[in-house]
Amino acid sequence: MPNQTYLRLALPTPLRRYFDYLAPQGVDCKALKPGVRVKVPFGSRTLVGILIEVVNKTDILAAKLKTAIAILDEEPILTTDVYKLCEWAAQYYHDAFGEVLTAALPVLLRKGALLPSDDSAAVPNKSVLAPLLPNASQQSAIDTIIQAKQSFKTFLLDGITGSGKTEVYLQTIAHYLEEPTAQVLVLVPEISLTPQTIRRFQERFAVPIVALHSSLSDKERLRGWCAARSGEARIVIGTRSAIFTPFKHLTLMIMDEEHDQSFKQQDHFRYHARDLMVMRGSMNNIPVVLGSATPSLESLLNVKRERYQSLFLNVRAGDALLPTYQTIDIREHPLEEGLSQPLLAAMREHLNAGNQVMLFLNRRGFAPVLYCTECAHIVGCERCDTRMVYHRKPPRLHCHYCDAKKPVPKRCVKCNGESLAPVGLGTQRIEEVLQQYFPDVPVIRVDRDSTRKKNALHALLEEINNQPKAILLGTQMLAKGHHFPNVTLVGMIDADHGFFSVDFRALEQMGQLLVQVSGRAGRAEKPGTVLIQTAHPDHPLLQTLLKKNYAAFAQQLLNEREQALLPPYTYFAVFRAESYNAEASYQFLNQLKLAITPLDTASILGPVPALVAKRKGLHCQQLLVKATKRSTLQGYLKSILSTIDTMPRVSGIKWLLDVDPVEMG
Ligand code: ADP
Ligand code: ZN
Repeated sequence: MPNQTYLRLALPTPLRRYFDYLAPQGVDCKALKPGVRVKVPFGSRTLVGILIEVVNKTDILAAKLKTAIAILDEEPILTTDVYKLCEWAAQYYHDAFGEVLTAALPVLLRKGALLPSDDSAAVPNKSVLAPLLPNASQQSAIDTIIQAKQSFKTFLLDGITGSGKTEVYLQTIAHYLEEPTAQVLVLVPEISLTPQTIRRFQERFAVPIVALHSSLSDKERLRGWCAARSGEARIVIGTRSAIFTPFKHLTLMIMDEEHDQSFKQQDHFRYHARDLMVMRGSMNNIPVVLGSATPSLESLLNVKRERYQSLFLNVRAGDALLPTYQTIDIREHPLEEGLSQPLLAAMREHLNAGNQVMLFLNRRGFAPVLYCTECAHIVGCERCDTRMVYHRKPPRLHCHYCDAKKPVPKRCVKCNGESLAPVGLGTQRIEEVLQQYFPDVPVIRVDRDSTRKKNALHALLEEINNQPKAILLGTQMLAKGHHFPNVTLVGMIDADHGFFSVDFRALEQMGQLLVQVSGRAGRAEKPGTVLIQTAHPDHPLLQTLLKKNYAAFAQQLLNEREQALLPPYTYFAVFRAESYNAEASYQFLNQLKLAITPLDTASILGPVPALVAKRKGLHCQQLLVKATKRSTLQGYLKSILSTIDTMPRVSGIKWLLDVDPVEMG
């Protein structure tokens, strides 16, 4: 066929290749721009893909070629920089380009909706609060970030909780926005948890602001996305996936709470928004600001290696005081239903003085285990290799891995015995105990169960602020972003689970959590006290954290990681395989391991069962690939992936690759 042309498309399938199609009838291929969306038949489905290029040759047999259904856009749907970011991400995470491009689009565009023509999603604000007078370290941070304008540089804004990081963001942004078309991207961990943050932005700027978060409808999300793309929205505040937002004139990117794990996507396309932000900054030649009171070890090492520049805020802004820490040795002061006498006494004292107390336990439900006192049988999940958590409100057994629920049994399924006992502590159980100890004080529980309904968290936060005297009880949700000025006592009910986890990141996370939780308490006239219940008060890392500070704690952890050849000093990637057949996932990874050419500069460990070895009936095994250089790991992964391509297909196996995993689960 003379002059035949074909559309080469990236499609949202896991296959790492392009697909050729004939153009729809009457479409002039020469006028098509790469980057537009194209709707095509694919097996029995229709898919929406992205045009990579128009080509004159194809390897597909004429009889097999299919014709595209429609061209959906006139102009490329993504901006050039987002397109390039996706290209880089597809290479780095070894994902199919089509899947990455699709993940970058709002849901409605993925499904083939046309771009709406009106994009006035961003509401301009009217009343504007004046900026606060910055203290010296805030001013110096602001000045430094302003100087980096129009050039790539990554800053780590390392400021203790309450040191005024948000104020630094606001004043820096104000400066960037003086340029009439300039736009700014701000990423935060979970917006629904931090309505206060958005409000502070809205109060400060008389420019259109768009918030992109999970409680928006698909339509609202699309409109917000369009407002960023058209240049109308001047500030975009969003969660992880907002890193792919297209802008007309992006000038600055900020990530708050950069240590937060929610920036790493844990399924499908497993990117880390922090790494993508730094990459996008370098591609766009603009500054990036990462802020945290408890920076990740990755970022701290990048500062040491002079890739990032740190900016310190070492005093609390205004005149709030830092809390003081004390440990309670639970070997000397045994716990009764989770609470020791010294903790109870301190609670009474603070409540009697008319203040609020915050208790923290990172386990929801009533008790993690339901146990038969006669035969020691524990009720497990039938589909997962885990125990079912006992909930009382409403009464049920609940698997926190697969969400399976069942009624609470009256008798043991094994021995028919009648004395089933809840063992261990969850927030619901502590709530009941507190109501008995403090019948006159409202107990406000904040966890995933109590905040499931829309606006439930907001209502709880209001309630907290309206009660002079109250006990707040919660999981790590309480540690995220909120300030509770009336809280003067913080109790960590169980600080110990971080010490003995098989996950090497558990200690880092425990330290971050402790500092973040403590940072929520106390103000100028009401400094906070933090009480930590532990069986290991002398643990050297806990001592460093409490007697010195997070920086010293992190340094000690970094030394340990360096000696143990763990990230961030080495680079990890994990192949995970799942199968209903208990042997198959192991066999698959083991065969893969045998087929890979060994390298001196990289090692392969496993296959071993995942932390939770069975989930939803699937047996999960993993193979760890480890190298001392990022480039070595990257090259090696490429060759391993081509090895997989040459291996015979095994049915019933699903596998995936996770580069830089943050969960070893
Ligand atoms: P961070 O984000 O570091 O936790 P914030 O920016 O939320 O800290 O500031 C903590 C508190 O201190 C806020 O109530 C804020 O209004 C106040 N604050 C920040 N900077 C100043 C300043 N320069 N002068 C007075 N108060 C300040
Ligand atoms: Zn389960």
